[in-house]
Amino acid sequence: MAALSPMMQQYFEIKNQHPDKILFFRLGDFYEMFYDDAVLASKELELTLTGRDCGQAERAPMCGVPFHSYESYVARLIAKGYKVAICEQMEDPALAKGLVKRDIVRVVTPGTVIESSMLQDDKNNYIASIYIKDGCAGVCFADVSTGTAHTTCLTGERLGAEIISELCRFAPREILFNSEILNYKDVTHYIKQQLACAVELMEDDRYQSEECTHEMQLQFGEDCEKNTGLKCGSPAFYALAVLLSYLKETQKKGVERLKTVHNYAEAQYMQLSPVTRANLELTETMRGREKRGTLLWVLDKTQTAMGKRLLRNWIEQPLVNVNAIDDRLDGVEELFGDSVTRAEIIAALAPIFDIERLMTRTVYGSASPREIYSLAVTCQQLPQLRQLAGSFHGAELVGIVADIDELADIKEMILSAIDENAPASLKDGGVIKPGYNSEVDELRDIVHGGKGYLTTLEAKLKEETGIRTLKIGYNRVFGYYIEVSKSFTDQVPQNFVRKQTLANAERYITEDLKQLENKILGANERLAVLERQLFEDLLHSISEQLPRIQRTASGVARLDVLAALAEVAVKNNYVKPQVDEGDELEIVEGRHPVIEQMLRGALFVPNDTMLNCGDDRMLIITGPNMAGKSTYMRQTALIALMAQIGSFVPAKSCRTGVVDAIFTRVGASDDLAAGQSTFMVEMTEVAEILQYATRKSLVILDEIGRGTSTFDGMSIARAVVEHIADRETGIGCKTLFATHYHELTDLENSLDGVKNYNIAVKKRGDDITFLRRIVRGPADDSYGIEVAKLAGLPDEVTSRAKEVLKVLEASAPNADRVTQLNFDNFEKFAEKPVPSALVERLEAVDVETLTPLEALNFLYELKKTLAEG
Ligand code: ADP
Ligand code: MG
Repeated sequence: MAALSPMMQQYFEIKNQHPDKILFFRLGDFYEMFYDDAVLASKELELTLTGRDCGQAERAPMCGVPFHSYESYVARLIAKGYKVAICEQMEDPALAKGLVKRDIVRVVTPGTVIESSMLQDDKNNYIASIYIKDGCAGVCFADVSTGTAHTTCLTGERLGAEIISELCRFAPREILFNSEILNYKDVTHYIKQQLACAVELMEDDRYQSEECTHEMQLQFGEDCEKNTGLKCGSPAFYALAVLLSYLKETQKKGVERLKTVHNYAEAQYMQLSPVTRANLELTETMRGREKRGTLLWVLDKTQTAMGKRLLRNWIEQPLVNVNAIDDRLDGVEELFGDSVTRAEIIAALAPIFDIERLMTRTVYGSASPREIYSLAVTCQQLPQLRQLAGSFHGAELVGIVADIDELADIKEMILSAIDENAPASLKDGGVIKPGYNSEVDELRDIVHGGKGYLTTLEAKLKEETGIRTLKIGYNRVFGYYIEVSKSFTDQVPQNFVRKQTLANAERYITEDLKQLENKILGANERLAVLERQLFEDLLHSISEQLPRIQRTASGVARLDVLAALAEVAVKNNYVKPQVDEGDELEIVEGRHPVIEQMLRGALFVPNDTMLNCGDDRMLIITGPNMAGKSTYMRQTALIALMAQIGSFVPAKSCRTGVVDAIFTRVGASDDLAAGQSTFMVEMTEVAEILQYATRKSLVILDEIGRGTSTFDGMSIARAVVEHIADRETGIGCKTLFATHYHELTDLENSLDGVKNYNIAVKKRGDDITFLRRIVRGPADDSYGIEVAKLAGLPDEVTSRAKEVLKVLEASAPNADRVTQLNFDNFEKFAEKPVPSALVERLEAVDVETLTPLEALNFLYELKKTLAEG
């Protein structure tokens, strides 16, 4: 086989170091991809696949993108979860002897991008690092684009579930982990199915005490333990250290920006399982995964990108500490009460740029002149913001004012150096403001005006030759030239050298002009170098003020969120909730924050909620389909959650004891992709609730038991209610339970703490009207057929349905009205002989040692065996 061409050999040397990345190989004005990369990229980016001679018989598959627009192509690959290695020419091809030197300058991965074109403004872009050892997990979530990291250590029996819960909260785009994670199938399954993000398995020998300590000290100083709050050698310490070394490998340029480490204890936040987050539609809808129709959508009246990201964080991490919640609520209240100042603050926030991310590009040296100018524009807003916020006295706003620095020095520095009309890119020049640097001014004189010199020379030549029409011009191909119209060409002196002939003129150069041209072009080059130098110096000086700017950005973000929450509260008529340590949840005239917005013209009917851990801990809610059961339960959960993020709530009044977790089992969210049956999914979720809910939790159960036969479903639903309601042997937490099993309403008589409610409807003849009012007592009918009529089923069908119903009710009077479950009832249905395989399995099982989930699985299998006959 023929040898590869030298360039292809070079390609493979580099590619072999990055087998799992798509290699962008710089060739002149293009980044080219070869072989498998080319085939893949041509498909993903819809590029034409061509070929290139590589020294062998077959041409190498190739496709490429122009270097000046490569960002958008990289962005698309990153969004699909690929990693891209950028290989540059390390020397000028025109000057290189032999093969141009090339090297990887950067690896772009989903979790490490900093270009604004590849990031979403309103979302943090997290990269996670998880280090599991001896049943402990150190986890670290870092946003490289904003320079913050969050770390914690997780332990305990349900380590997998805890890791998943954290992953769900931060939704990272990329995860680094050690091999131990492969023993936690639930976690790997979750990552694959739900997050679908890039992953990187880190070699075990990267987690070495010495190297990691060194890494941490380089980043956070000798005092790294104190500066990060992480104990040397703790799992989180390793997780962060390995993350740092990974960033250094991929970024090549320093990771200086990552300076802020928040070490958090998990108990600071309300526990929300991935299912609950999805069900409550906090930041994306269940159906379209969109923002519209979510709690975030309702609350997001923020003005800045930093505020948007922070609000999302608050919603995703409700607090549990009453004091911290009160601080936020008091802040919102102050802004709520002062419309004039609030409006001024909001107006002053509007022009503020995303300085958090801008600072990252400043530190990395990739910020553009225009972006830096916008930092100054932002600084101009700060004194006013500070002064406006300074008129309040609550702890939260006082803290914000303390964090916001006016940054006058930085503003001055930028405004004196950068031209107001600075271009987006440094290479176009015109970045440095006139008067900032005398050499720049001088060089510009030569370049533009060289003008002075050129007009002098032109005048001199006119005089010497006596040609009136002689003029000096410039074009890109010939450079400077002297133009003489045809009628005067006979007067042209000897030393003019002809360059170009036009229809009615000739163009010449002279030795003098040539020299002048060199001077001007030289000045141009020097100017470019000097402007870049000055700009880089400026970036460096700004970078040195990073901590102040970072703190300011954080203060601005908090102010933005508080102002937004206050604005929403005024616009939507919310009220300040009273949050305490008690166990009561008392809502007067509560509304669903999202549905009331979606209804537009129609009026949302408010409803009260009275829940506690005493007599009213389990509300069983019945009523026909579409009456509003699900809405009512979600509204209650959302109001409790809003209160704990520090927001006002849609109600007339609200008093709530802090809940440690919200659990929901709502609707039939089929996990078809995972190949599980609806019923299995449902039962797994219920099992989780039973296992992890505490007395301080809030549980929402919407029609459980639907995925199986009536008797199974009802028995399970009943057993679940009994268990949750029981304060002695069960959980005894606040629970809302909607069911279509009318029979369960009997529980009010036999169980402590259970109350029946129903959503009232008015029935006139065959027609029903939904009143949307929750009232005490069980619903008296299920109105299935009436609802079907309301939904537009033709009359023939609904009347036929009625006939069928009559027949059914007559033939099986008990089938739909079983009030007490006892074995008499079951015997009636046990006419068929029980298959022996079932008996054998039943005899073999040791009930004592089964977990609830195993028991359910077992039951499920039995049913399956039975069905298969
Ligand atoms: P259910 O769970 O009882 O079948 P839903 O809670 O899904 O009923 O409510 C059905 C629809 O009724 C909702 O989509 C909403 O448009 C409307 N709705 C529910 N509650 C109210 C209310 N309190 N005020 C106005 N409309 C409501
Ligand atoms: Mg419902």
